Amino acid sequence: MNLLLLGPPGAGKGTQAQRLMAHFEIPQLSTGEMLRAAVAEGSDLGKQAKIIMEAGELVPDGLMIGLISARIGQADCAKGFILDGFPRTTAQAEALDVMLDKKKLALDKVIHIVVDEEALIERIIGRYSCANCAAGYHDQFQQPICKDVCDQCGGENFSRRKDDNRETVQSRLKTYREQTAPIIPHYESDGRLVAIDGMAEIVSVGDEILAHF
Ligand code: AMP
Repeated sequence: MNLLLLGPPGAGKGTQAQRLMAHFEIPQLSTGEMLRAAVAEGSDLGKQAKIIMEAGELVPDGLMIGLISARIGQADCAKGFILDGFPRTTAQAEALDVMLDKKKLALDKVIHIVVDEEALIERIIGRYSCANCAAGYHDQFQQPICKDVCDQCGGENFSRRKDDNRETVQSRLKTYREQTAPIIPHYESDGRLVAIDGMAEIVSVGDEILAHF
């Protein structure tokens, strides 16, 4: 099962990818996570990506295409994968087609999570996660049951993404509108694209996605 999640920052792609991962037993390939790991490591890629990510812009296509092509070739993707955050430009979408063709693979479904952009800024700037197990929380919508203690692992350290601040989020949304939203029609033509209402509760969004399989 090869899946692609599309939608603006804060639409819930990462959250829904977690459920799909457990359901289909396939890995989530989040290019944002890969880049954050590279930044944390201080690798050459990380050094290049850091400034771009902090500005809410896009890392060059060539780097991203190489990264995802290598990742899809790894053993844990043999049963399938969930793409989250890639492709983000027309060039990446076209390169993905070529890459999948060469590997004799295809996308089974493209899930477009549709959200009201007005709600996204508050959604994004309030979110944080457990530094130990990555469980997601939100200042307003989903606090841990015991203040400052992770519900899932009992950890007491939490972290926020550096790019989840108001200024960078506005730039990320603009980048999405200008460079990523135009790739949606690329997937509309052959019936693989399903539009999901991403404004509903997390569980209902997940149920709606799974109802398409
Ligand atoms: P995300 O975690 O998907 O919100 O991505 C965080 C940041 O990583 C984005 O704002 C971009 O700067 C960068 N990034 C992630 N995926 C890509 C991609 N496919 N192409 C270019 N830049 C990316």
